[in-house]
Amino acid sequence: MESGHQTAMVHDMHEVAQSPRFRVERMGETGGHCDCCGNASRRVWGTVSDGEEMLVAYWMNWTVGHLADIGANLDIIWGRWGEGTSADDRVLVSMVHREQPDGTPALMVIDAGDRPEAKGELAETALNRAEVIGTPLAAHAFALVDGIYEQDGRFF
Ligand SMILES: [Zn+2]
Repeated sequence: MESGHQTAMVHDMHEVAQSPRFRVERMGETGGHCDCCGNASRRVWGTVSDGEEMLVAYWMNWTVGHLADIGANLDIIWGRWGEGTSADDRVLVSMVHREQPDGTPALMVIDAGDRPEAKGELAETALNRAEVIGTPLAAHAFALVDGIYEQDGRFF
């Protein structure tokens, strides 16, 4: 499946802060097969920093052929990292990227508590959609995610 360009992506937010300062570092990736159809699944992850400060670790999961129905899951763990920090300093925010019938990709914040990542040890709190949308957090989150899309280059 080809990726299409992300510039026309529909967001939950129409205005996204321009933040070209974010620096994305690609980390690992794994592959597998979808339980339902056997198509190739991929999971890729990386980090986003603002200057020297790491802000986010992210994971994108998708299966070839499922971008229009299930979609791709983007989970970001966001907060303070490094020495002296703990899971209490970080939150999980989860999004779904889904191709719409007209081919436009859309990205939606979902309840992070439903994600397997919510049971991990990196973030103490999994934010619900309502805790993100309509708050200053949302604009910041989408700016980060735009940086991830622009700079990761491995998606779909
Ligand atoms: Zn499948």
